[in-house]
Amino acid sequence: MAPKEKRLPGDPGKGGGPATKSPVPEAIDDAERARIAMIFERLREADPAPVTELLYETPFTLLVAVVLSAQATDVSVNKATPGLFAKASTPAAMATLDEAEVRDAIKTIGLYNAKAKNVLALSRRLVDHHGGEVPRDRAALEALPGVGKKTAAVVLNALWGEPTIAVDTHVFRVSNRLPIARGTTPDAVEAGLNRLVPDEYKRHAHHWLILHGRYTCTARRPNCPACLVRDLCRWPDKTWPDDAEPAPRVDAG
Ligand code: SF4
Repeated sequence: MAPKEKRLPGDPGKGGGPATKSPVPEAIDDAERARIAMIFERLREADPAPVTELLYETPFTLLVAVVLSAQATDVSVNKATPGLFAKASTPAAMATLDEAEVRDAIKTIGLYNAKAKNVLALSRRLVDHHGGEVPRDRAALEALPGVGKKTAAVVLNALWGEPTIAVDTHVFRVSNRLPIARGTTPDAVEAGLNRLVPDEYKRHAHHWLILHGRYTCTARRPNCPACLVRDLCRWPDKTWPDDAEPAPRVDAG
């Protein structure tokens, strides 16, 4: 869903190091529970029903758009998909295209060779095994070519409102910085978020954290002065001179 990013001191993983030395605690106290709930309450107040920024019209076109968005920006995917979907917007139609045609339509997106193969293969599988429909089943989704755990979670959440919290680069960074759930791998952060995010916020947690990371808590220059959860954030590097000009909004990622 987003390209590789530069990490800052205090960000987890290679080049950064863990946000704190402590692992995600098994249990949190009432104050911590209240802090996490307040973070989501403020994100909800600001944007009650966030949606994906990928352009799509049907379950199939969303699935393809999410597959294409791996290690690419939503902006780049949205530039390419109208042309692709004008050629074919159903699994049956897509399956009839030549690989070169698909490749040509998406050649501005990273990893387009492999993605063209996957789009064709998953379209054929949808026709052969699912009656041309996108299955509402995590295992069936993950069995589709080019569809991993994260893509399946995004599709289940965006199409059917299932309370999945897919962890992309933005969710990973924001969750570690605030922190909500800390971890050095997406799986660890996802497990922590599933445990620590109150149920009432799980439906939209994925999009709230993505959008916060994309537009405010950006990788290189987080806009802390404009952050609506700044007082709840414990990232040691969050402090920004109060009289500093807010950083400009970053519109891609
Ligand atoms: S205060 Fe800064 S580092 Fe903390 S969540 Fe907000 S933008 Fe990110």
